[in-house]
Amino acid sequence: MLNEAAIAAFRSSLRGELIEPGDSSYEAARKVYNAMIERRPRLIARCADVADVMAAVKFAREQRLLVAIRGGGHNAGGLGVCDGGLVIDLSPMSHVHVDPKKKTVMVGAGALWRDVDHATHAFGLAVPSGIISTTGVAGLTLGGGIGYLTRRYGLTIDNLLAVEIVLADGRFVTADARENADLFWAVRGGGGNFGVVTTFLFKAQPVDTVYGGPMFWPMEDAAEMMRWYRNFIVKAPDDIYGFFAFHTMPPWAPFPEHLHNKKMCGIVWCYTGAMKKAEKVFRPIRGFKTPAIDLVGPIPHPALQSLFDRLYPPGMQWYWKADFVKTLSDEAIAQHLRFAEKLPSLESTMHLYPINGAVRRVKKQATPWWYREATWSQVIVGVDPDPANKEMVSAWAKEYWNALHPYAAGGAYINFMMEEGEDRIRATYGKNYARLVKIKRRRDPANFFRVNQNIMPK
Ligand SMILES: Cc1cc2nc3c(=O)[nH]c(=O)nc-3n(C[C@H](O)[C@H](O)[C@H](O)COP(=O)(O)OP(=O)(O)OC[C@H]3O[C@@H](n4cnc5c(N)ncnc54)[C@H](O)[C@@H]3O)c2cc1C
Repeated sequence: MLNEAAIAAFRSSLRGELIEPGDSSYEAARKVYNAMIERRPRLIARCADVADVMAAVKFAREQRLLVAIRGGGHNAGGLGVCDGGLVIDLSPMSHVHVDPKKKTVMVGAGALWRDVDHATHAFGLAVPSGIISTTGVAGLTLGGGIGYLTRRYGLTIDNLLAVEIVLADGRFVTADARENADLFWAVRGGGGNFGVVTTFLFKAQPVDTVYGGPMFWPMEDAAEMMRWYRNFIVKAPDDIYGFFAFHTMPPWAPFPEHLHNKKMCGIVWCYTGAMKKAEKVFRPIRGFKTPAIDLVGPIPHPALQSLFDRLYPPGMQWYWKADFVKTLSDEAIAQHLRFAEKLPSLESTMHLYPINGAVRRVKKQATPWWYREATWSQVIVGVDPDPANKEMVSAWAKEYWNALHPYAAGGAYINFMMEEGEDRIRATYGKNYARLVKIKRRRDPANFFRVNQNIMPK
């Protein structure tokens, strides 16, 4: 039982709000993006600044409370919230400051990628991130970060210069290549295991209007398109990015009416080379098989980033299964087609995100992110707005994954995993796992930060 006097003292020490069950804001505050996750924390501290985060860590330590850290609340397994315990909610700390001269961006840990995209685009810059603008900067970065700019500029962590972080012992430190270098190594892929990051400092890349968007082909062409794509993407120059997908066409513009609700295969492109060369670069792509839907053209980077936002608002049921993939064999393609034809809802999908290109130029030991030699990060998600369909979409995703897993490389991208146990986490970090354990032992020996893809300090 929590001592009421201690809660009152904690509340008065905060500049942000402290929310308890029974408060009018509690139900909305405890919710995360994935509505399949239903957890009820004892307290939610909406931290306004670093002092609030330090107070929250101290309070949780003294009261022996379980702690969950929440950035954007997008985590697949709902790791931004816990039952009982304290949620350290960073959403008020969403400031973004661009230094156009140094080409760096300072970002508060509660910011979403759309906040960063908006601020950087004004200067013709961007930080490599994901493909949905409502995802949190914190969780995505700490797990690695893959998206439209990955082949050109690497993972999000490859563009991280420093973090400010509150440790389990309550200290606030900076970690970069020189200071607390062990921590800086660990946070570039090791998730929320090492402390509460309050600020990220990123290198920004010169990205303005790109040539991008989706192309879709009928399912009858899927096998041929997948075979073409597997050869194309391993040889493509780094400035061409395209992830392969199966989708059901949404019943709204700009999708043509006769294709509404049709299951199709597609590639979502992002070309960051010279705009005047774009049409020529895409001629052989379009020439291989004319797409039934072609929405590819010049588009401001933030618009591409938010292209899927309408399809994926918060509050739906999500069941995730992921793997890293090195090669896409004909047998694996045949399995993909079997399940693509049975996409169980408008929102359910399979994406193959390429992680070659610039990702390969960073050494495997340089950050915890081990699978740099994989070609794709594959994710299968069963998604539906209706809780009554949760078993149905989950069953499809599990069966699909079971059929494809024998063709996979071993681990899975940590940010696409639900709670799947220690073996999967170990497999994902490969030979970097032992070093993560060593740093965890030094920085968080009591495993205070354990609502995450947990690196156990044993
Ligand atoms: C619709 C959708 C699309 C996605 N697309 C992509 C994509 O294109 N590319 C990609 O790489 N990923 C993608 N993801 C996965 C995403 O990276 C993870 O879900 C990530 O955990 C989300 O970060 P968040 O801050 O929103 O999560 P939260 O749920 O807030 O946090 C997740 C976990 O991160 C840790 N954490 C969060 N904030 C902090 C902090 N300040 N300090 C320490 N630890 C912290 C904690 O362990 C926490 O449990 C997507 C997810 C969704 C739902």
